[in-house]
Amino acid sequence: MTELLNPFKIAQQQIHEAGKYINLDPALEAIISEPKRVLIVTFPVKMDDGSTKVFTGIRSQHNDAIGPCKGGIRFHPDVTIDEVKALSMWMTFKCGVVGLPYGGGKGGVICNPKEMSNGELERVSRGFIEAIAVIIGPDKDIPAPDVYTTPQVMAWMMDTFSRLKGSNQFGMITGKPLIVGGSLGRTEATAQGCIYSIIKAAEKIGLDLNGATVAVQGYGNVGYIAARLLADLGCKIVAVSDSRGAVHSDDGVDPSHLLEHKQETGSCVDFGACSLITGEDLLEMPVDILVPAALENQITAKNAHNIKAKIVAEAANGPTTPEADKFLFKNGVMVIPDILANAGGVTVSYFEWVQNLMNYYWTKEEVNTKLKALMFDAFDKTYMTSKEHKVDMRTAAYINSISRVAEAIKVRGHV
Ligand code: GLU
Repeated sequence: MTELLNPFKIAQQQIHEAGKYINLDPALEAIISEPKRVLIVTFPVKMDDGSTKVFTGIRSQHNDAIGPCKGGIRFHPDVTIDEVKALSMWMTFKCGVVGLPYGGGKGGVICNPKEMSNGELERVSRGFIEAIAVIIGPDKDIPAPDVYTTPQVMAWMMDTFSRLKGSNQFGMITGKPLIVGGSLGRTEATAQGCIYSIIKAAEKIGLDLNGATVAVQGYGNVGYIAARLLADLGCKIVAVSDSRGAVHSDDGVDPSHLLEHKQETGSCVDFGACSLITGEDLLEMPVDILVPAALENQITAKNAHNIKAKIVAEAANGPTTPEADKFLFKNGVMVIPDILANAGGVTVSYFEWVQNLMNYYWTKEEVNTKLKALMFDAFDKTYMTSKEHKVDMRTAAYINSISRVAEAIKVRGHV
């Protein structure tokens, strides 16, 4: 049988698997197995050459039983409706794992930002937010950055939405630049949260992080900062990849020098004395910690039995398929699931939104102390559930967060 790689079907399967452990009411399972609302929009954008191009965008709102929907917007040529639907579902459960008062949402625009000028990027950002403005807002659905979207993109989106409403609407989006309502610590939050979860996982399996070897797949905002923070803890970053290739050095690379090289040349390849390896080789390297920080479906039934890492910390969303999960669990690999490992981003987004609503701003130390407390607590609760039900950490994370959403749906009288 060919392996299931459709992220929406995978999300549904993950719900079904976890639901078995809590005798999930079939009506509840039916409710949370589909998004509540999916809006597909097309919008025209004037390109630099004078032509007009019509872009397609999607916003999926999975569930708002606990609070407004929350989740990023990605700009990528491979965005599909099923991917955005799955990502919105994962957001519901991610918020549930950390205990945030949100449901899940996600957006995507089919485009290639690498081939667009700054002006075109701005017009796509503004065009998309105007097209979905009817269904979003600070108390309805709050977008944020995701793959290939930045604080600058958030600022344009906030500005367009504010103009439509006739007043500043800082709380309508998170991940903004500091000067327009951003939060200290938001840029590093996803990677920082991932590090907190790695610290906990290392503790549980008795791994000393000082000298531990690490491979990082993807060298964007999350991959780079995770590498830097791990190096600060004494880890050795022995392999790094981006969309153009992967590099390897037994002596370890300096994450900041590698970033400079990527900024100068556009890629991680040809860095110093590193040898060139393939992205597939990187995943199978004999390292202590593997951090997938790129896209979905990277660890599959094909390569799962070759994964040698002791800890897989899913900084990306959906990097491991259910088939691969089974192999990894059987082989004793500690997988910190995406909805826990990368929950730091949405957690500090929540802090940003709270600060916007209060119009009172916190220090970076306050943000990080709160983030650390929430991440450690979420990890401990997930770990305890995994031991209680003898399941992997992903199923445990789903058990805890589905129970939460289910309780809200029930108490609101929907079933
Ligand atoms: N895009 C990030 C995620 O997948 C952040 C979402 C947010 O901050 O709302 O978790």
